[in-house]
Amino acid sequence: MSAPSPPDDAHWMREALAAARAAAAAGEVPVGAVVVKDGRCVARAGNAPVATHDPSAHAEMRALRAAAQALGNYRLDGCTLYVTLEPCPMCAGAMLHARLARVVYGAADPRTGAAGSVLNLFAEPRLNHHTAVQGGVLAADSAALLHAFFKPRRANPEPLRPDALRTPAARFAHLPGDPWPRHAVSDLPALAGLRLRYLDEGPRQAPLTWLCLSGPPVWSHLWRHMIPAFLAAGHRVVAPDLIGLGQSDKPKKELAHRFDWHRQVLLELVERLDLQRVALALHGTGGPLGLTLPPAAPARYAALLAINTALAPAPASAAAAAAPNAEQAAAPAAPRQQGRPRRQRLPVPPAGALAAYEAPFPDAGHRAALRAAAQLAPGLGAALPGGGACAPTADAMAPALAAACAFWQGWQGPALLACGTPDALFGPAAMQALQRLLPAQPPLWPLEGAGHYSPEQAGPAIAAHALACLSPAGGPAAEPA
Ligand SMILES: [Zn+2]
Repeated sequence: MSAPSPPDDAHWMREALAAARAAAAAGEVPVGAVVVKDGRCVARAGNAPVATHDPSAHAEMRALRAAAQALGNYRLDGCTLYVTLEPCPMCAGAMLHARLARVVYGAADPRTGAAGSVLNLFAEPRLNHHTAVQGGVLAADSAALLHAFFKPRRANPEPLRPDALRTPAARFAHLPGDPWPRHAVSDLPALAGLRLRYLDEGPRQAPLTWLCLSGPPVWSHLWRHMIPAFLAAGHRVVAPDLIGLGQSDKPKKELAHRFDWHRQVLLELVERLDLQRVALALHGTGGPLGLTLPPAAPARYAALLAINTALAPAPASAAAAAAPNAEQAAAPAAPRQQGRPRRQRLPVPPAGALAAYEAPFPDAGHRAALRAAAQLAPGLGAALPGGGACAPTADAMAPALAAACAFWQGWQGPALLACGTPDALFGPAAMQALQRLLPAQPPLWPLEGAGHYSPEQAGPAIAAHALACLSPAGGPAAEPA
């Protein structure tokens, strides 16, 4: 085999990045490509549709044409193409025609990527091809280049969609114990212009990245008692506010809050931030959502911290399809309520922190996500506000829920299940369903008297125990295998 080793990949990707920078300097979207054969660069090109008045003048197309000219053959057998951005369908098609041995790309392109993001032409069994694909090489460099290119071009960097509201920033000033500024992103495809805000602190190469997810009615402020311990350990913390909550934009209509849409937003955020070695820290209504994320990118996830939360049960038919036997299919079923669900309110945050949790909602118009809370916990939240409209969501989410059940049934990483009591919605009974799903069946760690919002009452203790249980051995960042 003459396949290049990973250090070669980084070397050639740097060459492609140089071509992308040259394209940016010429006013083109910064994408660059090089074609390599037998350790030698045979072609190098940047994106040039603007200058050439040619919609097909993508960097890859231009590099393929130049390589074919240089080699005197339209078949590029034994060649590897390096490109800074996941190829589009046109370029992927041309690569298959050229019979490239291998394609290596940098950043994923959730808008037009044809190597797995939108579709995957390279994995299409009905096409006769022999091209191996690898993504993610120097992805952050490529994404940063694209970001820097587009940022100054946005006239109003933070427009507000007409069907959404934005809580005035002043309501979040001077919240006690929460000194961290939130980042903003609005160009994830699923956001369609809504602005999502998230906390992102700590080094990018941290041994562990705590992805902290909570749901209605609380927001990233919930994690403030735990974040200092994670940062002190040298870890990274990312805590998004779901759309409709916290400092993120708030659609006016409850119907905007579909489980699958929130999930897609989070999946795209994980890719955009390129989160590695993720410790999922989940609380309350953020858990059913967060627990379905890993099957989409299993290699990113390293540990689980579940706090007063549960996995929504997959519909029985979907669970049976995903589970190897009927016994496992039955295992994740959560305790079912008998008869009509009793209408519940969302658990009320503790009095000491109530002002911070009311800050995002100056009036009823901002509260659509609270009225639609059950959408985020399909199958569990029938008694929550908005529960009546829950069934279609659960059906639409059946594949994701079944995939999550199967994923956690096979989970080999560390897990800590912390349960503040009392908690009517996500107490020990709900958490035991998740516990039984995990192969190691970790014991429930009871936090008596801490209640549903245990990160408020026992945050430092939870963080300390989580660091002890979930930190990778050896401390410093290990490169992913
Ligand atoms: Zn293309």
